[in-house]
Amino acid sequence: MRIDVLTIFPDYLAPLGLSLIGKAREQGLVELAVHDLRGWTTDRHRTVDDTPYGGGPGMVMRPEPWGQALDAVAAMGAPERPRLVLPTPAGRPFTQAVAHEYAALPWLVFGCGRYEGIDARVAEEARERYDVDEVSLGDYVLNGGEVAVLVVVEAVARLLPGVIGNAQSLDDESHAAGLLEAPAYTKPALWRGHRVPDVLLSGDHARIARWKRDEALRRTRSVRPDLVAALPPGDLDRRDREV
Ligand code: SAM
Repeated sequence: MRIDVLTIFPDYLAPLGLSLIGKAREQGLVELAVHDLRGWTTDRHRTVDDTPYGGGPGMVMRPEPWGQALDAVAAMGAPERPRLVLPTPAGRPFTQAVAHEYAALPWLVFGCGRYEGIDARVAEEARERYDVDEVSLGDYVLNGGEVAVLVVVEAVARLLPGVIGNAQSLDDESHAAGLLEAPAYTKPALWRGHRVPDVLLSGDHARIARWKRDEALRRTRSVRPDLVAALPPGDLDRRDREV
């Protein structure tokens, strides 16, 4: 997968050189480039923002450097048509399903907003050469899109074949099948008076699987009843409904 990130703070993306994503880049599973948006400004002060039309507080990112930058990045991988991901609190929610959707694409380009956001015409105009997607990390407001890009890239890259050592852990984890994962434990079996549930020490794989399913259901019903309500009707068996 190829990933390009446009930002006025390239250093913010430095963690993408670490850990599993760093290794995936070394192994050639992910090709990632971070570009400084100010490289496409033309004035002495490398200005990327201006006051909003219609008044109001704050500044808005000007369309010209964005247009130039997006032209240049699109030309780098032409004739492939990239997906342009614009993080914004006004976008559709970024979920595990969206992460899977992105993981199946060959090329993602991210545009990091700052200030009051990017001039709205940028997303509109970019549709001529990009598939454009505005996504939100959640119902809160960050200072810029960089942190959102770190989150999205990590969630997507770990789904790529070869990035996670044990691919089975992807099938068992929270949000893989609509539920949250059961709690996890490791040694010692007794710690500060707190015991690991006996069933996990039993070696009985069928009982352990049932316990994990029950705990996943309990936990999801308790903190995310919306996820249980969204499960397809056939996903819960009679026993599940008794938990
Ligand atoms: N004025 C915008 C609004 O109210 O919708 C908020 C702009 S925010 C201060 C600056 C940038 O941070 C946004 O352009 C976006 O790139 C990023 N951002 C902030 N919150 C976000 C969220 N919940 N999800 C994704 N990106 C976010």
